[in-house]
Amino acid sequence: MSKNILSAKADFPALNQSVNDHPLVYLDNAATTQKPQVVIDSLVHYYSRLNANIHRGNHALAVQATEAYEAARRKVAGFINAERNHEVIFTRGTTESINLLAYSFGEKFVQPGDEIIVTQLEHHSNYVPWQLMCQRREAAFRVLPFDEHGELDLTLFQRMLNEKTRLVAVNQVSNSLGTVNPVEEIIRLAHEHDIPVLVDAAQSVQHLPRDVRELDADFYVFSGHKMYGPMGIGVFYGKEKWLEVLPPFLSGGEMIDLVTPEKVTFNVLPYKFEAGTPNVAGAIGLGAAVDYLRQFDAAELQKYEEDLLAYGLQLLSDIPDLIIYGSPKHRSSILPFNVAGIQHYDMGVLLDSMGIAVRTGQHCTQPIMDALHVSGTVRASLALYNDRADLDALAAGVRRAIKMLKR
Ligand code: PMP
Repeated sequence: MSKNILSAKADFPALNQSVNDHPLVYLDNAATTQKPQVVIDSLVHYYSRLNANIHRGNHALAVQATEAYEAARRKVAGFINAERNHEVIFTRGTTESINLLAYSFGEKFVQPGDEIIVTQLEHHSNYVPWQLMCQRREAAFRVLPFDEHGELDLTLFQRMLNEKTRLVAVNQVSNSLGTVNPVEEIIRLAHEHDIPVLVDAAQSVQHLPRDVRELDADFYVFSGHKMYGPMGIGVFYGKEKWLEVLPPFLSGGEMIDLVTPEKVTFNVLPYKFEAGTPNVAGAIGLGAAVDYLRQFDAAELQKYEEDLLAYGLQLLSDIPDLIIYGSPKHRSSILPFNVAGIQHYDMGVLLDSMGIAVRTGQHCTQPIMDALHVSGTVRASLALYNDRADLDALAAGVRRAIKMLKR
């Protein structure tokens, strides 16, 4: 039997505390989620019983640590339905995964005059690495805009694809607007031109179905810390056919096969892309987060989170002078808003004084804020342990803050 969603809150010790003399209402999950006790325990267990460097020692702890690290890789591969375990590369997170691809792909496949397509809905992590790579390779950096609903225009996208396009990079869920982008369709259209697609799943892997084979994604990246796992661990998934031909990003120990002054050859996958000592505890903790998430029925969880989002959007839209940004047909987990005449930062400070944690500012998406003509927004974002009481507290808090600030 799958786990009851309403019992989840009790699994997260950090949620059970007071902040500024109020019970914590944690609604900054797009920045990072809290961790369930099982993930925390897995880290403590690793450091208190297993700690050893992996792949290099033949003593008992080294063997056990290596096995636990590789078991975590198998769990993650199963979680995203990768065809092969070695298509899962552990990195520090989404940002490092995208930098890996931008460097490696740029070096091998991008020539002056080529084009890379990103969207105006990207986090800086899926924007700046491509922008800089295009500058280095003298390629054109092309940005697919979003419309008044906060959605991407696929007709325009189709027109942007051409024989010079080398790669498309797009997020599945926008961290600022919550738009669920049609990545299946984007991948299908790009593949008609043999163009590979990177899916930034940082805001989707914890909320939406995750199946790299069904998506036919060439590259799929995410961070552990936004899906109930530890910080400092993330995933770079790539189809084997790409990983085989891409050059390594970081170099050093572990990623080599033979090293002489004249020549260096590389290790097999996935190690070719995992130079140096990896975050072994982080990978094991991420494996524990995967196990935790898999206790829930995925469809039930998605429905629960979607209902909760709709409830929150309704509560907020009932507040006078409150502006909700974007109106995409499909939105996930993000409530982006401002109140006319009130600075987002001031709203955030007052909510914090009531124990309500939200994010304010640009959310690492200046191109989105510029398109909306705002300096920033207030962003509440949901996780599986949130409930209607959290959103009631948010709406009441916003109303109270308005009264205080507009007095
Ligand atoms: N992409 C998106 C859509 C994100 O929301 C984030 C984190 N806010 C990132 C990339 C970067 O993730 P990280 O900081 O974990 O590398």
